[in-house]
Amino acid sequence: GEVIVTSNLWKTYEMGDQQVHALRGVNLRIKHNEYVAIMGPSGSGKSTLMNLIGCLDSPSQGKYWLNGHNVSELNDDELARIRNKEIGFVFQTFNLLARATSLHNVELPLIYNGTPAAERTARAKEVLEQVSLGPRMMHKPNELSGGQRQRVAIARALVNRPSIILADEPTGNLDSKTSVEIMALFAELHEKGNTIVLVTHEPDIAEYAHRIVTIRDGVVSSDHPSARHAAQT
Ligand code: ADP
Ligand code: ADP
Repeated sequence: GEVIVTSNLWKTYEMGDQQVHALRGVNLRIKHNEYVAIMGPSGSGKSTLMNLIGCLDSPSQGKYWLNGHNVSELNDDELARIRNKEIGFVFQTFNLLARATSLHNVELPLIYNGTPAAERTARAKEVLEQVSLGPRMMHKPNELSGGQRQRVAIARALVNRPSIILADEPTGNLDSKTSVEIMALFAELHEKGNTIVLVTHEPDIAEYAHRIVTIRDGVVSSDHPSARHAAQT
């Protein structure tokens, strides 16, 4: 099935008496288990689109279906509920709680949705093992390398079994060797059936995806298989 369907999605920011049309009619369909990179120059609307896809904000016009739910008309509380259930976020800056262990950081989304403690811990351990961080689960972020911190963030994104993983510049703070390791982990998660949407400025990183969507001036300006994937199929 289709996990993401947008129809003529507009986002207009009001800035005093000025209007900024950040998105001007985005039509995008992403199926279950696709691996999509979103590219585009600074100011083209990538962050705005990610915020809408991630249910962090509502569109000004148009429709958005996430895993069959029409989410374009939900209020903030309803958006928060669906976001927690359907979306796993991974950020450039990791966004981990500095004072909490890896295990606790990964349990947080489950605390928010009221999962019982024993199940919470079991599921957090399982995803930490999946990202090869089992031996580091009692470490805090400052006791981990950048790549390990991003693995904790990826485990946190996975723990609710979301319908999509949304990664915004996930290698932006990592050296090139660590970036390759993190992209290998995303490839593994994709092979296991996850749907991944990745925003990146870097063409080399976008090539790990199977499909590259480019945004320019608030619309989709190109949408094609990545060269690497086209060569494989
Ligand atoms: P990037 O280009 O790295 O995606 P931006 O610098 O465009 O980041 O935006 C960073 C943050 O600031 C985003 O959350 C975006 O929504 C917000 N933002 C961008 N432009 C404006 C603006 N003109 N006024 C207020 N907030 C903005
Ligand atoms: P990108 O992520 O591709 O850099 P953004 O989505 O951040 O692009 O921004 C698209 C356009 O919308 C830019 O012109 C930016 O200045 C504007 N914009 C983004 N967020 C805001 C905001 N919160 N308020 C006003 N303008 C914004």
